[in-house]
Amino acid sequence: MNLIFLGAPGAGKGTLAARLSKEYGIPQISTGDIFRAAVKQGSELGRKVQGIMEKGELVPDSLTVELVEERLAQADAQNGYILDGFPRTIAQADALASFQKIDMAINFNTSDEVVIRRLSGRRVCRSCGAIYHVENMPPKFEGKCDKCGGELYTRDDDTIESIKNRLRVYKDQTEPLIEYYRGKGLLRDIDSSTSPEESFSQIKSLLLVGFFGLGE
Ligand SMILES: [Zn+2]
Repeated sequence: MNLIFLGAPGAGKGTLAARLSKEYGIPQISTGDIFRAAVKQGSELGRKVQGIMEKGELVPDSLTVELVEERLAQADAQNGYILDGFPRTIAQADALASFQKIDMAINFNTSDEVVIRRLSGRRVCRSCGAIYHVENMPPKFEGKCDKCGGELYTRDDDTIESIKNRLRVYKDQTEPLIEYYRGKGLLRDIDSSTSPEESFSQIKSLLLVGFFGLGE
């Protein structure tokens, strides 16, 4: 099953992709991970990516697509995969369609209010990187990491202004993809404004219907 997860930052894609990946034994593939792996391997493409990232520039479409193609050709992706955060543009989606057959694009629907609450409540430990949430997963002592006692802080891109900006960028750039996959009959919607458990069972129902021919 070749899957694409679409949704705004904070819609819960990453968490659900990790769970599904475990459940079905297919890899969760994000471009960030691909870039990091390529840099680590020191391949020719990896050295290119490294140079671009060191300058703080965006990795161009053509190079991203090349790296994704290389990654999807690897052995562990032959029974399926979950693409998380790719494609981001119609051009990338067209390129992807030229070398891969996508079975389903799952669209994570959430309101902006839910995303803002989720992301602005996130706190990260300065020392060990552990992640907390002021409402859903508070530390035992405010501002202190349970694991190492380190100081908890709000990442720059989790401030409300920055979240609103990320949502705007998402809508402008990625929402056309929803229509793109809807037009191809591949789009399925879930409501991801509730709990991860609830989203997980919605996705499993979609997969049962789509891949195993079973009713709900
Ligand atoms: Zn810590």
